[in-house]
Amino acid sequence: MKNPPQTRRQFFSTTTAVAAASAVLPARPVNAVQGGSHSKTIKTDVLVCGGGCAGTAAALAAARRGAKVLLVEKAPFAGGIITSVGLPYFDGIAHITTRRVVVRGIALELLSKSGVCAPDAQTVAKHNPTIPNTFEFKLLLDRLFQEHSQNLSVLFNSFVCGVQTQGDRITSVTVANKDGMVSIQPKVVIDCTGDGDVAAWAGAPYEQNAEVQPLTLHFRIGNVHSEPNLSALCRAALLAAQERGELPFYYGPGVMFLFAKNEVYVHGVRVPANPTNAADLSRAEMQGRADAHAMFRAWKKDVPGFSEAYFQEAYPWIGVRESRRILGEHVLTEDDLMTSRRFDDAVATGCWYLDLHPNKTTLNGANDFDPKKVQPEPYDIPYRSLLPQKVANLLVAGRCHSATRGAHASTRVTVTAMAMGEAAGVAGALSCKKGGVPQEISGLKLREILSGVGAGPFTDA
Ligand SMILES: Cc1cc2nc3c(=O)[nH]c(=O)nc-3n(C[C@H](O)[C@H](O)[C@H](O)COP(=O)(O)OP(=O)(O)OC[C@H]3O[C@@H](n4cnc5c(N)ncnc54)[C@H](O)[C@@H]3O)c2cc1C
Repeated sequence: MKNPPQTRRQFFSTTTAVAAASAVLPARPVNAVQGGSHSKTIKTDVLVCGGGCAGTAAALAAARRGAKVLLVEKAPFAGGIITSVGLPYFDGIAHITTRRVVVRGIALELLSKSGVCAPDAQTVAKHNPTIPNTFEFKLLLDRLFQEHSQNLSVLFNSFVCGVQTQGDRITSVTVANKDGMVSIQPKVVIDCTGDGDVAAWAGAPYEQNAEVQPLTLHFRIGNVHSEPNLSALCRAALLAAQERGELPFYYGPGVMFLFAKNEVYVHGVRVPANPTNAADLSRAEMQGRADAHAMFRAWKKDVPGFSEAYFQEAYPWIGVRESRRILGEHVLTEDDLMTSRRFDDAVATGCWYLDLHPNKTTLNGANDFDPKKVQPEPYDIPYRSLLPQKVANLLVAGRCHSATRGAHASTRVTVTAMAMGEAAGVAGALSCKKGGVPQEISGLKLREILSGVGAGPFTDA
């Protein structure tokens, strides 16, 4: 479905919030921010919105090319899905059977700095390696940002909530944080919000299916005793809970001893929702928490290995797999992926299967099809799929880049998002020197530069 309100802008007014607060707080100080005005203005070359997989790589890549960069992230830390949803997988780094590394650059740097492989690894032990600790990943990203603090600034706890345009250019992006409403005036914006918030609010055309992939809250349970058939017992307990009306949907059961021998990490929650609708997203957060605890209670009741278990914690946010997909200069298709179509302006490589979760319970695995049947060989992602239409000084990277729903089911994985982010970061830095128009950057030239720093698309050479 094409989404009709393609030119909608989000204008956030402080009037209501300030008025409500003044009813319960003592008199405001004289320099209080008045409703609707900005408390400060920041100018930068490159503004990266969203510090997840794509945004982290974009910010680092742009800073390493010498641009003045500001990274804005709504969480108090970077890492996106890895740290806020607690997903430790580096999927898309390597070929599924040969385990040959197909994405290098910042993604491989982060994996090796997490202690998983050598910096110049040609192969990895598993095609889908995991990092050992998601908190330490936050520290790693903090350290890398601090190493570039001369020209890279970071604003955490900062929500991008509005975009102002003039003609086909973004003139400023409004961010809400503890400084109040902050106006950021960039030369170029890289939208790495996953949901394409900036692009959509700036008027770039996009698609969002009426039904998108389900949302999932990840959680961990401590003091679990492993036993033979644990997965099968867990699955039976969930089926019974579902029959009792205690659990609407689930998949898997996705119970894994990933971080410690007596602790399970669970990704089995499945909540259908519209993640770009604030009320529905809030409903999904509550449903996710309720379902996670229902799963825990079912196992505690029916699975002996859980008799002494405790609910350790769920990660702060429910994870969003799919929302807006920007309609770019090239819309990457399933056919492009499955035929490994080559593009002259390829700037990244993907290799994950077309991993589309359905909005229903699936037993055993996450999908209701055979992943092997939709497993592409490593494929090219062209620069043009990072270039939105109609907005001149904007790039997108990660989950919101330009792809059909089917292709996006593959390109959405963590490492592929990082590879796109790195390419967008370099392009953003380059375009600042050329009037802030990424469309005028040659994809071929960009590819050459990426290759010069050991990044860009995979070649067998
Ligand atoms: C539950 C779940 C399980 C998954 N499992 C896997 C898996 O096993 N392997 C795999 O490789 N991939 C998996 N994925 C897919 C993959 O993790 C994501 O698609 C990937 O993180 C995309 O990277 P991104 O940078 O586009 O988005 P993200 O990593 O989500 O980053 C987006 C960032 O933008 C920030 N942001 C959003 N809106 C705003 C705003 N308005 N203002 C400021 N900041 C904002 C967010 O806080 C976030 O940090 C999974 C996804 C989910 C949801």
